[in-house]
Amino acid sequence: MAVLEIVRIPVLSDNYVWLVHDPESFETMVVDPAVADPVLAEADARGWPITAIWNTHWHPDHTGGNADIKAKTGCEIIAPAAERERIPTADRLVSGGDQVRLGAHVADVWDVPAHTAGHIAYHFADDSAIFVGDTLFAMGCGRLFEGTAEQMFANMQRLGTLGDATRVYCAHEYTLSNARFAVTVDPDNAALTARLAEVEAARAAGEATVPTTIGAERATNPFLRAPSAAELGRIRALKDAA
Ligand SMILES: [Zn+2]
Repeated sequence: MAVLEIVRIPVLSDNYVWLVHDPESFETMVVDPAVADPVLAEADARGWPITAIWNTHWHPDHTGGNADIKAKTGCEIIAPAAERERIPTADRLVSGGDQVRLGAHVADVWDVPAHTAGHIAYHFADDSAIFVGDTLFAMGCGRLFEGTAEQMFANMQRLGTLGDATRVYCAHEYTLSNARFAVTVDPDNAALTARLAEVEAARAAGEATVPTTIGAERATNPFLRAPSAAELGRIRALKDAA
């Protein structure tokens, strides 16, 4: 099976849209298109026909490009079943336990409610890659807009079962802000302090800091490392107030 080609497209102030191409089948999908034009331009430049959009949740900075990309390419839109009313462009609704495919590459759908009530993630086990939307960020986690700390803790526990090498494709460049907060709640973590310095240098040089990996998050992410839902909720509230 050919290796998936995954391209990061920075849009809006800090969103990343992911363009994912299977060179064998030539199928190409877009994860969470906030907008259409830069995504269509990137796909065009590469000669990749967009065949699908995979949404993780309904927020407009994840679905705003759905209608225009579908109109221009005729692609299929896959979206979380629990958010069908808020993603009227969806063609196929999926939820935890379902599988979706890009060519021969299979992704398992995970239910990861908390940031939104119907939020899902797409895990390509054979490719060691997971598209998490706004659930797990580099050294952070999504805000609890429609769910509880208990739900987010369960999400973190499940993500923590993945191997260290698993690449985590999140939807925002929040890394520097997350790192600066993380050191305040985990000041004695040497790996975290070192990572903050790396991220400061990368951002000063204008470089992106995602994807991250489960191994890096296991070592430095205070939300993934939280020992209980109560602790996760406590630090999430601190971050919200920061
Ligand atoms: Zn969101």
